[in-house]
Amino acid sequence: MSRINLNDLDPSFKHRVAEQPGGQGIKACFACKACTAACPITAVDARYDPRKIIRMALLGMTEEILHSDFIWLCSSCYGCQEVCPQNVSFTEVMFAIKNLAAAEACVPPGLTGQRLLLKAHGRLYEISDFENEKREKMGLPRIKEHPEDYDALLG
Ligand code: SF4
Ligand code: SF4
Repeated sequence: MSRINLNDLDPSFKHRVAEQPGGQGIKACFACKACTAACPITAVDARYDPRKIIRMALLGMTEEILHSDFIWLCSSCYGCQEVCPQNVSFTEVMFAIKNLAAAEACVPPGLTGQRLLLKAHGRLYEISDFENEKREKMGLPRIKEHPEDYDALLG
């Protein structure tokens, strides 16, 4: 087991998470582990543990969280929120943590690629003449891409 150097901890991290929309409940967690027991991702990948992520955030392990790949494993199914006795809204806490990671450009390449596709085509799959010609043969209308719809969202 790796040791934690207290000098590396960032006490402000929990406050930064709590300031994000949906992150307010993080400080109410009393580590009961009900969220972990309900999480379908934990069931298939032990690296992902909601209770552990909250403890790390409360301790101030900012770098370990924001630079990790496991925070992106959450499927946003809301199962954890339904069982939390403290109304922590852990799914929202994960959105808050991922937003903080994205603000520091700590985003997996796959998600960066999806962002580029959305920005270029307004969808995650480019619609070419090939697809539209097939649609016309089937009597379906052509699809026009609207990447401008995502300008405000993607910056
Ligand atoms: S269920 Fe709620 S209180 Fe229990 S560990 Fe998870 S977030 Fe914390
Ligand atoms: S929202 Fe994320 S953390 Fe919560 S149960 Fe679903 S996968 Fe697990």
